[in-house]
Amino acid sequence: MASNPIATLRTWFDEGEHLVFLTGAGISTESGIPDFRSASGIYSRGVNTNVFDVGAFYQDPSLYYGFAREFCDITDRAEPNEAHQAIAALGQRPRKQVTVITQNIDDLHQRAGSDPVWCVHGNLEWSKCLSCGARLKTVELMDVIRRGEVPTHDCGGIFKPEVTFFGEMLPERDFSESQRAIAGADLLVVVGSSLTVYPAAGLPFGRSRKCRYVIINREPTDQDHSADLVIHSTAGDVLHAAVSHPAE
Ligand SMILES: [Zn+2]
Repeated sequence: MASNPIATLRTWFDEGEHLVFLTGAGISTESGIPDFRSASGIYSRGVNTNVFDVGAFYQDPSLYYGFAREFCDITDRAEPNEAHQAIAALGQRPRKQVTVITQNIDDLHQRAGSDPVWCVHGNLEWSKCLSCGARLKTVELMDVIRRGEVPTHDCGGIFKPEVTFFGEMLPERDFSESQRAIAGADLLVVVGSSLTVYPAAGLPFGRSRKCRYVIINREPTDQDHSADLVIHSTAGDVLHAAVSHPAE
């Protein structure tokens, strides 16, 4: 059956009613956003591996904001690619519920038009004052961040982006909605994730017996053996080919 994996995927997209996509950094690298752990990733470029460590942030927020100064410009300039667009296009089809769960902190799925998008590692869109809890769009802080300063609230507290740092709890609602969507899915597609960062990587274990499981990733993952279809390729090519063909 998997002699032509794209054709198989196309059929499963046509047949599925409750589709869930779990996406990682690999889907956004094609938009020019570097991942963190690969050979060409952010950590390999001399960026301190503690930039997303919550303890390090409380000790010295300028470590993160020095990094964010460049990273936010990259995410601002990035555009959704064929993979984001293909997933959003599936969501427009009649009688199909398409849920996106992403480990990414960019907003490319939202900008492509997907809804709902659950952000299990939070998102850069909002920032929160650590003293009084006031929330502000991160874009409103960008002038300060670009000047190389740490953004502070009127109350004197420091702003932290609503991104889940290492050492923090995952966003409760996004995570529980993700679990619920996967439990009810008849097709689960992992895209561009090496499935190594837990607990997000454990989400696929909550799928039902009737759920088909597809993994699209450039490199092998720890869960390839348990998937019904594995495609080691770039997400944009695969999803564009599988979605652009009109449904029978
Ligand atoms: Zn405050």
